[in-house]
Amino acid sequence: MLPAEIVAIGSELLTPYHTDTNSLWLTEQLNAVGIEVKLKTIVGDDEARLEEMLRDAWQRSRVIISTGGLGPTEDDITRKVFAKVLDRPLELHPEILAGIQALFEKRGLVMSPNNERQAMILSGATVLPNSKGTAPGILVSDNNRYVVMLPGPPREMKPMFTEHVLPVLAKLSQGVRICRRTLKVVGLGESAVDSLIAPIYRQYQNPTTTILFNMRAEVNIHFTATAATEFEANQLLDELTAKVSAVLGDNLFAWSDEHLEQVVGRLLLEQKATLAVAESCTGGLLAMRLTDTAGSSAYFQEGFITYTAAAKMTTLGVPVEIIAQDGVVSAAVAEAMALGARTRAGTTFGLGITGIAGPTGATAAQPVGTVFVGLATPTKTIHRALQLPGDRDRIRWLAATAALDLLRRRGLNELL
Ligand code: ATP
Ligand code: MG
Repeated sequence: MLPAEIVAIGSELLTPYHTDTNSLWLTEQLNAVGIEVKLKTIVGDDEARLEEMLRDAWQRSRVIISTGGLGPTEDDITRKVFAKVLDRPLELHPEILAGIQALFEKRGLVMSPNNERQAMILSGATVLPNSKGTAPGILVSDNNRYVVMLPGPPREMKPMFTEHVLPVLAKLSQGVRICRRTLKVVGLGESAVDSLIAPIYRQYQNPTTTILFNMRAEVNIHFTATAATEFEANQLLDELTAKVSAVLGDNLFAWSDEHLEQVVGRLLLEQKATLAVAESCTGGLLAMRLTDTAGSSAYFQEGFITYTAAAKMTTLGVPVEIIAQDGVVSAAVAEAMALGARTRAGTTFGLGITGIAGPTGATAAQPVGTVFVGLATPTKTIHRALQLPGDRDRIRWLAATAALDLLRRRGLNELL
């Protein structure tokens, strides 16, 4: 693969408050056309440091892509320093200046003289039009080596790269294409997933496989294939993902970027089914996750947040005897909550969650993380008992995930 390096320019990127997200997006784009990012650097708006860094980069890399520092202010030094390092003088392009002036007039503003800087382009370079802002980008090609200067704001940088840079770079790396695919698993830990699928993916050097646990409590399996064409890369991915999918079975919930609540929403929609939820320890988190998706009113009908025992009885009709006999954190109450939600809302399915999210509220018999999720369907009412790890946030998240997953496996998939 053709090696490249990325330089993120801007002092704010060296503070604790800003992350260089541009390089993540650029890396994905570059990889897709067979260019590998070998190095990334973040440099502040410091001329000496930037010059030092760029001289090294120019020595070692055939493709250098920078973002940031193309604006009109004194601290925007990218043009100036690249001009010095590449030994190409800056030249004023009157047509760019006229364009910037017109943009200011259109917005009813007077252009300040420092905007002239943005019309200064390295001698012999290609101007990259900015469809979303004032500063044009710059592309220098020199003996089969490329330097690309892009603006910092992502909404300006991305379209500029896609429209004017990607086609140029894609030609350089013809014959190498990289495609990725992600499978998402719920209900199995990272190591359980690995021991199941390692015997399969170890037989392949291409695609490569990475297993990651994320903040959403999903295990994501990433496959990356390299081939001469996109078609061939996808064929490699098809073969491996089919084998892996077969052993993961029902634990696999997505072959894409879909979240669990989106998959559940899609299945509800496909089956023309509706859902109501009754939540105790998750306090509305389950309803929030379900309604994060636009259009969810087509299947999500109602959420009951019944935090006390009294609310569970009056709002959902959970029988007092069940609470007296089994306690409020129990399988019977989770089922009664699910049934109550389904009955009161008149939906196809009802989900119920009751548990101890902590850090207080534990008893000798029921430690923090004790959670019951209930599901009421047109034909049955069932539950799952869980002992969830982590702090309050994590337990609440995992409890909502468990409820969604119970509906997916035992409600939606079984109805089919
Ligand atoms: P401007 O004309 O807006 O000044 P510029 O090319 O000079 O454009 P910067 O001033 O370096 O760009 O950055 C402008 C803003 O763009 C930053 O405040 C930041 O929000 C965003 N930005 C810059 N670099 C990055 C980066 N590497 N990743 C994500 N965002 C960035
Ligand atoms: Mg700036």
